[in-house]
Amino acid sequence: MTSPVWHPFTQHGLGEAIPQVVRADGAMLHLAGGGTLIDGISSWWVTTHGHCHPRIAAAIAAQAGLLDQLIFAGYTHEPAERVARGLIDIAPQKLGRDPLAHVFFSDSGSTAVEVALKMALGYWHNRAKDGLSSPRHRILVLEHGYHGDTIGAMSIGERGVYNAAWTPLLFDVGTIPFPAAGAEQKTLDALESACAQHPAAFIVEPLILGAGGMLLYSPAILREMAAICARHDVLFIADEVMTGWGRTGTLFACEQAGVVPDIMAVAKGITGGALPLAATLATSRIFDAHSSTDRSRLFYHSSSYTANAIACAAAAANLAIWREEDVLGRIAALSQGIEQRLGCLAQHPAFANPRQLGTIAAIDLIAKDAGYLSDLAPRLRAFFLENGLLLRPLGNTIYLLPPYCLDADQLDRIFALLSKAGDIFGIAP
Ligand SMILES: *Cc1c(COP(=O)(O)O)cnc(C)c1O
Repeated sequence: MTSPVWHPFTQHGLGEAIPQVVRADGAMLHLAGGGTLIDGISSWWVTTHGHCHPRIAAAIAAQAGLLDQLIFAGYTHEPAERVARGLIDIAPQKLGRDPLAHVFFSDSGSTAVEVALKMALGYWHNRAKDGLSSPRHRILVLEHGYHGDTIGAMSIGERGVYNAAWTPLLFDVGTIPFPAAGAEQKTLDALESACAQHPAAFIVEPLILGAGGMLLYSPAILREMAAICARHDVLFIADEVMTGWGRTGTLFACEQAGVVPDIMAVAKGITGGALPLAATLATSRIFDAHSSTDRSRLFYHSSSYTANAIACAAAAANLAIWREEDVLGRIAALSQGIEQRLGCLAQHPAFANPRQLGTIAAIDLIAKDAGYLSDLAPRLRAFFLENGLLLRPLGNTIYLLPPYCLDADQLDRIFALLSKAGDIFGIAP
């Protein structure tokens, strides 16, 4: 029986197994037919506390019977108000810095990023209308970045085989070299000279580039990049879609650098991973540039499910968990458990370049054919699947991004399998 479902990032022509999952709890996925998998990548970076968290599930059930969905243009509801206030309370702040004070809802990381870009360009558009600045359109991006798969989000991301078909549609951006260890000054110099050309905004994934290969850079560089933008009055946009909600050890990655962005995109873990929801936070000057008695200046963006009430109820429950439970303590313990085991795995001759930031760990497998289109990643994926583990390597980079409820036994099983993968698929240099 062939399925009509067309899956994302899946080459159906290869006929790879597409397992069916019927139930999940904590870090475990239960397969149709009885097997189980440890969810090593939080079902694509979204599940934070664990699957089917009782508090979030209960909030969803209660809201579903009360108010499911409401037009959000000109109307509001309590769950959205609660989430917006909660987000403002926990967003990165700094004395003397214009705080993030306004919240625009959407439904995925990609749309949160599109909204961020539209806010930035809308800001400069309205400023130019007022004669306060010349128009600014250009977006600066970081090399190897990933911000989603819609046309605008692809435009500001790394170009490659995964977006070649749409290249003619993608808009031009200014690409700043990735601040690789030892080459940071090159990045800062390039940013400084690009900022002198009056671009509209610079967007970054703070501290770690996810889909680009789990590439790390330091808080000091993040802070310096934000300072350069501030000096040139270039809007600084933080894409915290992956890094938010504790992934990097702090609630948001920007905190580690003491950076308050002008615009910040959050999604993935905002509902604990239970329902799609996203938010783009902005400072007052961005909001104020759109707020007027003139209708033509309003922010022209909406999607049908903006601030869906059930998704907002899930997010409100997630925020309550963050307020009332020691989530950061759990994250610290998990991070430590990962660190110890990653240190041992790094001794394996088939692995190189171990790296970790909070609960995210990555290591490169030294293998013969390691390119993005090689069959190494799918073969690794199949190996892990056969052994009860859901991982999805990026080329030869194997990474772990687990839910925070992962226990020591599960960690041991994962690292034993990683070591075995090194034995089977790796070649010693
Ligand atoms: C996943 C991701 C996105 C896109 O989010 P979706 O919800 O998949 O659209 C954007 N930016 C970053 C940094 C991401 O990791």
